[in-house]
Amino acid sequence: MTASTNDIEKAAGVLRTGGLVALPTETVYGLGANAEDPAAVARIFQVKGRPPSHPLIVHIGSADRLDDWVQDVPPAARLLAEHFWPGPLTLVLRRGRRVPLEATGGLQTVAVRVPDHPVALALLSAFGGGITAPSANRFGSVSPTTADHVRAELGDGVDMVLDGGPCEVGVESTIVDATGDAPVILRPGGVSREDLEAVLGCSLAVPSTSRVRVPGQHPSHYAPRARVVLVEPEKVVAEAELAQELGHRVGVFLPPAFADAAVKAHAVAAVPASMAAYARELYGFLRELDQQGCDLIIASLPTEEGLGLAIANRLRRAAGPRPTV
Ligand code: AMP
Ligand code: MG
Repeated sequence: MTASTNDIEKAAGVLRTGGLVALPTETVYGLGANAEDPAAVARIFQVKGRPPSHPLIVHIGSADRLDDWVQDVPPAARLLAEHFWPGPLTLVLRRGRRVPLEATGGLQTVAVRVPDHPVALALLSAFGGGITAPSANRFGSVSPTTADHVRAELGDGVDMVLDGGPCEVGVESTIVDATGDAPVILRPGGVSREDLEAVLGCSLAVPSTSRVRVPGQHPSHYAPRARVVLVEPEKVVAEAELAQELGHRVGVFLPPAFADAAVKAHAVAAVPASMAAYARELYGFLRELDQQGCDLIIASLPTEEGLGLAIANRLRRAAGPRPTV
């Protein structure tokens, strides 16, 4: 059930009194707090189990308000904001004085975006300020794309969950660092590299993740409970059946070219041919295979073009080495 005007007013009140509100955006659900309330921001880190050095995104109601939150906006950032906001693009810029260091993990830069979701925009408008929000999941795990995912994962940790239906984009925003001479993609996401390049009229670097200190860029992130193993698309069926024979409960991401294969596995998720549909379904698939009790997920990477770049990035991280506890 989509949030009513009443729910939105109530949520704005929760934010004003230092509470946490889970809110829908077009990318994934966020765990939101008043960006200017250091104690509320600190609670986000506590509820997520996220290290406090990992900066958050400040969500604002419109591009016109950008200068309230940042300083020294270069022309390229202005151009990107005009073109892609509201939308799944986050700009990293110099921190404005309103933004507490708690929200930026101590950095002098801040990540800002205008989300493209009617409920998020209505909440921003009712609240009036900025809402700082990372994805509404426990640190390192799969981002939520429905209100039920949020409730299942964070339970009482959040004061209110606004339901806005399933997220349209399904993967996080593209993060562009606009503080240097040339903009750089820190994290691929819902706006494709090609679309950014078309607007900027130049090619964009996607630096190797190891050089960039950005949460979401740890080796293991966006990870389900099941171990994820990536293989060539034409090997998915054989590898899955072998692992199943060896006693694993295997979940398969079946590539579209093999949609007709009758694969002998514990559970199968049929990967859509359209990258937009795949991005929308990706985290739901990972959660579903976990729920079905899979201990191993066999998947392949899509071609890294358009949204395929973000999908491949998330799959690699889901398959990354896990921290030993
Ligand atoms: P999450 O929504 O959980 O992915 O977290 C917010 C994302 O914002 C993180 O993944 C960071 O990569 C990014 N971020 C926030 N602030 C900054 C910053 N100042 N510099 C670089 N990345 C940032
Ligand atoms: Mg996250």
